[in-house]
Amino acid sequence: MTTPRPESLPFPESLCHRCAAPPRYVETRTSVFIMCPLLPGKYPPQPVRACALFRPAEAGAK
Ligand code: SF4
Repeated sequence: MTTPRPESLPFPESLCHRCAAPPRYVETRTSVFIMCPLLPGKYPPQPVRACALFRPAEAGAK
């Protein structure tokens, strides 16, 4: 199941949360995974601290 932004985000320090990609949040019963639409692997090791594809999300954008 994919949702825009769960209340409790994993790895709050991850760059992905501030990325314009935008990342998708995939919730299971016990976890929330961060799925990147740009990377072939989809699920980068978290927390992402540096990423060549990172672009800052617009302020106020979801
Ligand atoms: S492009 Fe990089 S920073 Fe942006 S969502 Fe994907 S992995 Fe995260």
